[in-house]
Amino acid sequence: MSDLTRQIKELAMELGADLVGIASAKVLNSRAPQGHRPEDNLPGTQAVVCLGLRMLNSIFLSPNPRVARTSYTYLHKRLNDMGWAVATFLEEAGFAAVPITSDVPIDMMVKRGLWGDLSHRHAAVAAGLGKIGRSQLLLTPQFGARVRVTSVLTTAPLTPDTEVAAELCPERCRLCIDACPAGALTLEGLDKVACVKVMHRYNLYGLLRQMGRILDADSKEEKKKLAFDRTLAEVYMSLRAGDPPSCIECVRVCPVASR
Ligand code: SF4
Ligand code: SF4
Repeated sequence: MSDLTRQIKELAMELGADLVGIASAKVLNSRAPQGHRPEDNLPGTQAVVCLGLRMLNSIFLSPNPRVARTSYTYLHKRLNDMGWAVATFLEEAGFAAVPITSDVPIDMMVKRGLWGDLSHRHAAVAAGLGKIGRSQLLLTPQFGARVRVTSVLTTAPLTPDTEVAAELCPERCRLCIDACPAGALTLEGLDKVACVKVMHRYNLYGLLRQMGRILDADSKEEKKKLAFDRTLAEVYMSLRAGDPPSCIECVRVCPVASR
């Protein structure tokens, strides 16, 4: 491991990261589709620093769905702050470095569900942080699916970590597939569009659908009723809360490293 790699890992831990790993940009450039490669976000990227924060297990004990949902926006904020600090350190060391946001903004015109500029999950796999499970979530040996990750691209030649070899899903486990309210998960993979319709039912998708219903309603009374039902209030709250997902059942039920 190079000195700079060790310094970056120490910095990440000092900043409060629960997980840190380094991925080779060459590996990710060869795996990711065009437009979503490190090279597309920072030409000359040599390495990707992956940072992870664990979720609180206790949020899954709460019967209040808002407790679990808002934890996402809290973790994204912390991850973005850490990513910025790591990129600043690398820039001051003489290299280019850009943090890729852990959540939004993303290009909403990509037609295959929600696609970030870089897949943090796949970067984390290449950085040795874990494996993709049947839920299509990143599973880590330490925290299972209860983790959020982000990435920093850099032209610094950092030493990549070794990928986790063993699959983390128990052979017979189908808990996430059975729990998915959208029927979006199968043994073949994830139907992202079906997932988004449930996971973001109170975000832009929910707003547009409700606006369509209001426009199509026959009477003024019906339009008024739709404008004041729960949907638009939930959309408003989601936007104020930083756009957290409305469904995390696949995270909740996953037994890997959960307590
Ligand atoms: S987030 Fe919800 S809808 Fe999407 S795959 Fe997971 S369980 Fe299914
Ligand atoms: S719930 Fe089971 S099958 Fe789904 S990702 Fe977790 S371990 Fe794998």
